[in-house]
Amino acid sequence: MFKKERPIPPELVKLRILNYRAKLTEKEKLQLSNKEKGYAGELEFDCLIRDLDTLVINELLLEFGETFFQIDTLIIFYGRIYLIDIKYYEGEYCYEDGLFKTIAGSEKKDPMLQLNRCHSELRQLLQKYRYNYPIDAFLVFNNPQFTLFQPSPNPQIILPTQVNSFIKKLYKMPSKLSDVHHKLADLLVSLHKTENPYVRLPKYDYDTVEKGINCGSCHSFDVTVSRTKIACKDCGCQELVEVAVLRNVEELRILFPDIRITTNLIFEWCKVIDSTKMIRRILKKNFKAIGNTKNSYYE
Ligand SMILES: [Zn+2]
Repeated sequence: MFKKERPIPPELVKLRILNYRAKLTEKEKLQLSNKEKGYAGELEFDCLIRDLDTLVINELLLEFGETFFQIDTLIIFYGRIYLIDIKYYEGEYCYEDGLFKTIAGSEKKDPMLQLNRCHSELRQLLQKYRYNYPIDAFLVFNNPQFTLFQPSPNPQIILPTQVNSFIKKLYKMPSKLSDVHHKLADLLVSLHKTENPYVRLPKYDYDTVEKGINCGSCHSFDVTVSRTKIACKDCGCQELVEVAVLRNVEELRILFPDIRITTNLIFEWCKVIDSTKMIRRILKKNFKAIGNTKNSYYE
């Protein structure tokens, strides 16, 4: 049972929007593509364990002693906890003398170090709350296009050809859970942080991001507006004006969480809608108006 479903990572949501509203550098585009692949790999893994008769918590961001650590998948079994980090790397890598490298020899961030750090922090956090479950940590490489050369097998590393047997093992683990397990799961979910202060995103500001209503399907800004519908000139997709405006207001709020939503701001943000009356009507219907009519804003 999924105690906590996996959300689209907030940084991926922002990067997706910035991809069509800002000019991303090659490096930032690579960051977006890596995030997309990583997320796809996690979803693929979720499908394999969805029917586990135990508690699964996806995407946990926890804090211990002023540091944040992220857990892709945490599974609570009867007598132990599995901490799983999913890597959707592609290509040939080698692990030698404690160094994680591509086959061409360029050194990469060691995923095992990251896993061990996470393992240690989770253990300390649970001790703080007087839970003494043994924790096993695994690195799962589930992209079939991945190979790892290493001097000897490491039981913590699950390679693409081992994923099936690993999953079978999970389904055979003792999973008779009691209240204590559920309380532990509730505790971990309650400790989850929504914002990771260490995530680095491309720099952007309100003045430079592209304004206008984009197509909900292909994200082109080349749209026409009729009385009730927005139509995309590139892909032909149509959307109700209200739905399109709300979707674009949501993008604005994701990029600028502290911005004050006013009729004039949304008029400027949506660009193609030439009536402030229509904007006001949509905002009034879907948000709570605060303040008097002239200076009111919406929440
Ligand atoms: Zn389109």
